[in-house]
Amino acid sequence: MARIYYDEDADLGLLEGKTIGVIGYGSQGHAHALNLHDSGLRVAVGLYPGSPSWEKAQDDGLQVGSVVDVARDADVIMMLVPDQVQRQVYEDHVAPHIGGKTLMFAHGFNVHFNQIQAPEDVDVTMIAPKGPGHLVRREYTNGIGVPALVAVHQDASESALQVALAYGKGIGSTRAGILQTTFLEETETDLFGEQVILCGGITSLIKAAYETLVEAGYQPESAYFETFHELKLIVDLLYEGGMEYMRYSISDTAEFGDYTRGPRVIDDSVKDRMREILGEIRNGQFAQEWIAENQAGRPRFLALRRLNAEHPVEEVGKEVRAMMAWLGQS
Ligand code: NAD
Ligand code: MG
Repeated sequence: MARIYYDEDADLGLLEGKTIGVIGYGSQGHAHALNLHDSGLRVAVGLYPGSPSWEKAQDDGLQVGSVVDVARDADVIMMLVPDQVQRQVYEDHVAPHIGGKTLMFAHGFNVHFNQIQAPEDVDVTMIAPKGPGHLVRREYTNGIGVPALVAVHQDASESALQVALAYGKGIGSTRAGILQTTFLEETETDLFGEQVILCGGITSLIKAAYETLVEAGYQPESAYFETFHELKLIVDLLYEGGMEYMRYSISDTAEFGDYTRGPRVIDDSVKDRMREILGEIRNGQFAQEWIAENQAGRPRFLALRRLNAEHPVEEVGKEVRAMMAWLGQS
């Protein structure tokens, strides 16, 4: 079983008197910076001059500076700019001041795929919260925390793990538990999950089911309710109590259809293709493709984004969601 660390395994004292430079103030950046600050640690937020987040971070009571200034002054530097710009930001602004320090990540992509290679005298670690930034912030202020992963890539100081755990405590994650992993495992499982189920799998399944109903002559609104809207209700049950709990809440008719029809849709051929996709993650093919796409100015990515936004299920969805006054208010 995996090793899990809690509050008593981590010592905030290891970060006292040090400056933590949080680079980026987006989803994760704002949550990490504010939580660390509220944990009594010294935080500086690094942004590019003219960033719309600059004033926001200042209004939130944080010290803000350019990435290069923050990287120069900080002892621990957490990279929370988007993964596809991390290499450039690191090379231009962080690398000149990284010697002998701690370099941290919330996702292993750039380290695992050799986009960022810190010198040997640098500790390279990861604290990756298993939730979006707003949840990391909200749960911290509620006195709880979002679970996280910890990994050590380079341990120059021989205290890299303990410093990473202190950081994890500062953002509230040791309250929930921090699971030990490696950069390889975090990166490969994260990419696999988002590609085959969480993002790619689920949206493709929804589109296929929706199109099947509409092409058979059913009303788009009915198709949307059955193949899209109700998904959240089911996922909430799964999240709360597992598959048995979900099945306890549905009708026996639904449960019988689940057992007998589900495996016909998601059969062994799907698993074969999942293995193929995992293979492309592990041999670096996906990473290469995505890095090249970014270097080329993202033409295919932007075209796919536009095409997917225009799918009929998105149009109907807007209309149907407008009927539900409670949506979009939280
Ligand atoms: P984000 O897009 O929400 O925020 C990025 C921030 O970086 C913004 O403040 C943006 O202004 C700034 N930025 C963009 N380009 C920059 C540049 N060239 N120089 C300086 N600043 C720049 O990103 P995010 O989702 O918080 O992701 C940050 C990291 O956290 C990534 O490694 C990601 O994989 C990881 N992560 C994200 C989540 C999540 O749920 N969003 C969860 C776990 C881990
Ligand atoms: Mg992910």
